[in-house]
Amino acid sequence: MKKIIDFSRFSSIKAGAMTEVEIIDSMSWNKEGYFIVGAASNLLVTSNTKKLARLSKEFDYIKIEGDTLVIGGATSSGKILSFAKKHNIANFEFLSKIPGLLGGMVKMNAGLKEWEIFNHLISIKTSSGVFNKSEIVHSYRHTQIEAVIFEAVFELSFGYSNELYEKFLQMRQNQPKLPSAGSCFKNPLPHFAGKLIEDVGLKGAKIGNMGFSSEHANFLVNHGNGTAQEALELIDLAKKLVLDKFGVFLEEEIIII
Ligand SMILES: Cc1cc2nc3c(=O)[nH]c(=O)nc-3n(C[C@H](O)[C@H](O)[C@H](O)COP(=O)(O)OP(=O)(O)OC[C@H]3O[C@@H](n4cnc5c(N)ncnc54)[C@H](O)[C@@H]3O)c2cc1C
Repeated sequence: MKKIIDFSRFSSIKAGAMTEVEIIDSMSWNKEGYFIVGAASNLLVTSNTKKLARLSKEFDYIKIEGDTLVIGGATSSGKILSFAKKHNIANFEFLSKIPGLLGGMVKMNAGLKEWEIFNHLISIKTSSGVFNKSEIVHSYRHTQIEAVIFEAVFELSFGYSNELYEKFLQMRQNQPKLPSAGSCFKNPLPHFAGKLIEDVGLKGAKIGNMGFSSEHANFLVNHGNGTAQEALELIDLAKKLVLDKFGVFLEEEIIII
């Protein structure tokens, strides 16, 4: 089954091409050469040259099985958080301001500071088989998973913390309200990408209707009808200026298709 997706409406940054996407409706799907789309919260789709696919609603589930939590790849962070709260489950409070579907969050090792989706992961079920956490190369906002993630299994610990949830909300107070794809660049430790962008004078800078946020410079935001091309120009400009001035290479966290 195929579906046309308009990424200027579907993606969180509200920019991008209109593209055909194949819908994956069973765990036997194992076609080669497809780029998998989750909720498009970390994507900039600039053209329709890649073959895209995404999981169907059949992968939208969350259940307790023994002492584990089993979550389908198309389950949203919001649904996981609500389930955790309702069933008094610990360790998912950090998802409160991280949009996305489980597959995308595992692929990106999404997280907030030291709280990461991999912390309590046990295994994943993919189009290339089942892998335990110890078999998956992963680090800060990165994994080497190339297959489609159908499902993930997590340790089940009880004790949802409202205090932690509030702390995470507090930590995100300076997050821009305008459409974005989250952080544009990874922090090139020990530096902070936002500070470097600010120091080359790009905080609040715009090209067309895209710009680096005046609230948090590492957020590329859409002021309304901004295009993927404008976003690309800003990304290139920031990389060039930061490299010229500080000799630091900025690596995109946002994934450009
Ligand atoms: C306002 C805002 C705040 C954000 N804050 C944070 C934050 O604090 N921390 C953080 O880590 N991220 C943050 N992000 C980025 C984003 O939420 C995460 O990267 C999230 O993991 C993306 O999930 P997604 O489903 O939208 O994936 P997509 O953006 O659709 O895809 C991201 C990557 O995952 C891959 N992928 C998606 N689904 C699958 C699958 N089923 N199988 C295999 N690969 C798959 C894609 O191919 C792509 O490589 C933020 C984004 C926004 C808009």
